[in-house]
Amino acid sequence: MEKTDYDYIIIGSGIAGLNTALLAQDHGSVLILTKGRIEDCNTLYAQGGIAAALGPGDSAVLHMQDTMTAGAGLCDPEAVSVLTREGPQRVANLIKWGVPFDTIHGQIALGREGAHSMPRILHAGGDATGQHIETTLAQRVAQSEITVLEFSLATQILVEEGRAYGVDVLDTASGQRLEFRGRSIILATGGAGQLYRYTTNPQVATGDGVALAFNAGAAVMDLEFYQFHPTAFSMEGAPSFLLSEAMRGEGAVLRDVQGRAFMADYHPLADLAPRDVVSRAIANEMEKAGGGPVWLDISHLPADTVQARFPTIYSFCMEHGLDITKEPAPVAPAAHYMMGGIKADVWGRTSLDGLYACGEAACSAVHGANRLASNSLLDTLVFAQRVVSSTLGDAPNAGVDPAMPGAEPQGPAYAAATLTQRQLVCASAPTLSRESLQDLMWRNVGITRNGQRLLLSARILQLWQRTMPKPEDLPSYELANMVLLARLMVEAALLRQESRGSHFREDFPQPSEQWEKHLVFTQDIAR
Ligand SMILES: Cc1cc2nc3c(=O)[nH]c(=O)nc-3n(C[C@H](O)[C@H](O)[C@H](O)COP(=O)(O)OP(=O)(O)OC[C@H]3O[C@@H](n4cnc5c(N)ncnc54)[C@H](O)[C@@H]3O)c2cc1C
Repeated sequence: MEKTDYDYIIIGSGIAGLNTALLAQDHGSVLILTKGRIEDCNTLYAQGGIAAALGPGDSAVLHMQDTMTAGAGLCDPEAVSVLTREGPQRVANLIKWGVPFDTIHGQIALGREGAHSMPRILHAGGDATGQHIETTLAQRVAQSEITVLEFSLATQILVEEGRAYGVDVLDTASGQRLEFRGRSIILATGGAGQLYRYTTNPQVATGDGVALAFNAGAAVMDLEFYQFHPTAFSMEGAPSFLLSEAMRGEGAVLRDVQGRAFMADYHPLADLAPRDVVSRAIANEMEKAGGGPVWLDISHLPADTVQARFPTIYSFCMEHGLDITKEPAPVAPAAHYMMGGIKADVWGRTSLDGLYACGEAACSAVHGANRLASNSLLDTLVFAQRVVSSTLGDAPNAGVDPAMPGAEPQGPAYAAATLTQRQLVCASAPTLSRESLQDLMWRNVGITRNGQRLLLSARILQLWQRTMPKPEDLPSYELANMVLLARLMVEAALLRQESRGSHFREDFPQPSEQWEKHLVFTQDIAR
């Protein structure tokens, strides 16, 4: 008989889930549920690295300033202060656990990336940082008492009297349904790039955590902010493989179809401008050129430097017939990172007792409207540690979320929002499938948005929600979660009548002071 009661149930086996599990094991029994194999996650693909203020002349204050600037007025100052102050200690823990960060002359090598004022990016295996982190942590978990159940899809958070107490699970290999009970339930389910036709994210990134939390009655926030990475490989038949921002950090230049470097036309930091600026610039150049990609050129650097610093990217491009040491690579933007997510305070507490969230699935507003490169892996480490502390009662005001709508906010305000019931469109709605959803989101809720297309999308999504059959297997659960998350994203994007960070509306192209606030959706659930 399988054990069904644990102190900690952690959903997800990326850096957030594994790190939380390794920290929690000293305080009780731990179960990790993951819907694929342990290494099926965004973490495995992270390339550029992990940001921490470790270098000479750098400081938490400078790192905080850069993070707040990129976040375009929507970062929570307390969360950013926690991230940048506690980050270096958490990175030291990864080093202690054996993650082999690259060194130069015996010191940790620190790279530079867009919108960072200092070199502060630790990397491993050149551009294989995520792979080294994931495999190191997974090995430690394998040597521990932690129970890991692969192919175990969390389908529902169980709630009683306002407290999360368990998880319903579908064993996707056998089709069996299971119920597990836990003292603390931790969502570490990652991002949702699969909502879009072009994405750097793997198949598992379907935003399940946001849907699970919302369906359980927890608050979700900032979902209109989705980051599009400017430079994903763009060749017919090839995946949207990421060509890391670290390439531009090392001197790579974006060129138009005529070979002209164009980024200085758009921003004083040129190729190192924030991601939203670069993505929009590329989209604009692509439109001018009739839709084809732009070109990322690193061929002016010595070939051995490129091969040593970017071995994964170099091999990937070679497999597709392109030698980046000699010629530029075709690139276009792709969906990359979810800034919004399950509303969590700086201790990883959600608005539902007993339910915690960390990693890309969570939103503590640490990234605001636009994430600074390489701050995501750091976020997972810092807030995973804090989740474990708060389950032990170490967090102040335990059980109270200090930043819910109505509470006195420290940074930008929190505004409660609800899902508007819309007039249904029937005649023009495409049939629901993963692909038709991805197309809808790419066309209407992508890098550039407008009210008309958002409204049409909201209506189609509402129709799909109403007519979708009850989910019963992995693909149908994922699709139901994606449709719900898409709906929340579209409604948030419709409400936010301004442009800020990654959210750009053609009909409201400027930021507005009135919108310096977070949009929080909560489902009213009668219990
Ligand atoms: C190509 C690429 C490059 C990147 N490069 C960088 C970088 O250089 N630096 C940086 O800071 N960030 C980078 N990022 C972002 C960063 O990798 C992610 O934000 C981070 O790894 C997220 O970690 P996580 O543990 O929260 O989620 P993930 O690593 O995505 O893990 C989520 C886990 O949850 C599981 N899961 C989801 N739903 C369910 C469910 N219903 N039931 C059971 N299990 C479930 C998944 O299977 C998976 O195991 C990159 C991302 C990509 C895709």
